[in-house]
Amino acid sequence: MAAPLRTARAGELRESDAGREVRLAGWVATIRDHGGVLFVDLRDASGIVQVVVDPVLNPAAAELGRELRDEFCIAVGGLVRQRPPGTVNPELPSGAVEVAAAEVMVLSPSDPLPFRIDDRADVDENRRLEYRYLDLRRPRMAANLVARSKAIGAMRTTMLAQGFLEVDTPTLVKSTPEGARDVLVPSRLRQGSFYALPQSPQLFKQLLMVGGVERYYQIARCYRDEDFRSDRQIEFTQLDIEGSFWDREGVFAALEPVIVAVTRELRGVELTTPFPRMTHAEAMRRFGTDKPDLRFGMEIVDLGEAFAGTGFQMFAGALASGGIVAGINAGAREVSRSVLDGFVERAKGLGAKGLVWMVVEADGSVRSPVAKHLTPEELAAVTRALGAGRGDLLLVVADRPKVTRTVLGALRIDLGRPTGHDRLEFLWVIDFPVFSVGEDGSLAPEHHPFTAPYRVEEMRDDPEHALSRAYDLVVNGVELGSGSERIHDPRVQREVFSVLGISDREAESRFGWFMRALRYGTPPHAGFAVGLDRFVMVLQNEPNIREVMPFPKTQTGYDPMTDSPSLVDEFQLQELGIDLRPDVRESLAGEPTPT
Ligand code: ASP
Repeated sequence: MAAPLRTARAGELRESDAGREVRLAGWVATIRDHGGVLFVDLRDASGIVQVVVDPVLNPAAAELGRELRDEFCIAVGGLVRQRPPGTVNPELPSGAVEVAAAEVMVLSPSDPLPFRIDDRADVDENRRLEYRYLDLRRPRMAANLVARSKAIGAMRTTMLAQGFLEVDTPTLVKSTPEGARDVLVPSRLRQGSFYALPQSPQLFKQLLMVGGVERYYQIARCYRDEDFRSDRQIEFTQLDIEGSFWDREGVFAALEPVIVAVTRELRGVELTTPFPRMTHAEAMRRFGTDKPDLRFGMEIVDLGEAFAGTGFQMFAGALASGGIVAGINAGAREVSRSVLDGFVERAKGLGAKGLVWMVVEADGSVRSPVAKHLTPEELAAVTRALGAGRGDLLLVVADRPKVTRTVLGALRIDLGRPTGHDRLEFLWVIDFPVFSVGEDGSLAPEHHPFTAPYRVEEMRDDPEHALSRAYDLVVNGVELGSGSERIHDPRVQREVFSVLGISDREAESRFGWFMRALRYGTPPHAGFAVGLDRFVMVLQNEPNIREVMPFPKTQTGYDPMTDSPSLVDEFQLQELGIDLRPDVRESLAGEPTPT
């Protein structure tokens, strides 16, 4: 029998291994030549160990060693020995030992590298994605893959321990309205018809409840053709759950242990449960967002009382027309005039008509472009309401309530948000509105149209204010996931569609199949989906989800490694009954066609 290529893992060697003959296999992380003696850092998935190739002890190995270049894949046989005093490397877990090579074998050479495999090297992201397989060799990325796997493992273990059944659902489905654009897949056998990739397994998991499954979970891939942002990708992964005969409390009680287990696994931190809860209305009022970052204060304070009888037109006008005046205390900070102007521009960019800044001077007086329009009593009332002390910068907005709060909420994040996620502040945000109201007054489901409203009559008569049984899980200002108690009565489901302006006929043609299922003894049910990528991103303290996805796309949805999306053969299009529009064809002229 051939000797095994490997008998030990590089990163696991310790002092207690000294004297052992080992065979290692991995990649050349670095190579240094000290007067003919080669020092090779050998890296495998477990970490790094130093290999010494000494020509005096072993001329043949040294000969081969000289061929080595960065990232060659090699095998080494040799003796583990303690490093000489003074050469121990405390940075490396294996730093007390080294391996004296008796044998070196090149398993596979490497072309010159497009970038250094080093966490410290600052490499353009497109380049990293083009050579993702090399990027994944970097310790930080390797650690992220390990973390992702551990997170999925902890999720599975916790769900199984709670008696959940893992059920997979199809990825070629009928287009469903979950708020985002569908990714469509043309059908060959029914030309002109399309499947959609699931935005989530929402309707299938509900059907599993009708099917008597009672406790379902899945690590599910979801697809949403949205504009990309730092925490969005066209495809992403969720821990998706659903349960029958329970309500919000059942969902929270099942999910909190999962969040605790994953956090323990990745961070070694024991979270306290139950997580705090806050209503959507309170989150909006105090933080101007439905995903408040509770790691810092700087809360939004209503200043209506301070300016109740003000003669200052900007504030008086807002108050008289149903708006509000509110502000935040951004704390003591040195800010130049141009920085202050920048805040005003930012507020306008966010949709406010303007922003008033005030600085409390050393003598207690207030410096502000509008100070002369306000009475001393009003100025005193503002500083009191905002708890302002010397040097504090106050930012005040007067506008429609929603605009005022969201603008102040965004400024609060700009000015106060800690970088990274060293501390973790989880909370449930509950009692979302059923609908969000667009600028033109149009209604859209705030969560998705299968979410139960608290009161059906209220939803019908006052849809703008009706509350739903939906909830989000938030950590540090990041929305980790959403869920809701579902509608299990087909009549209520029809009413929601009708408030959304979806006619009975349209509802029948799009969701008849689903509505029919609801007529067969549907149990009350509720569920949730946790964004796996976002959760791992936060726990790994990464700035975006691409860092924790093995093979993500760029922010424009492009994969530079495989050059996808790409053109397909004319023949493939024909089989699908698809003709490209002449203008599209035109715009593609000159693009290389696939062979
Ligand atoms: N399907 C929903 C989503 O992906 C989550 C849920 O309501 O369970 O956001």
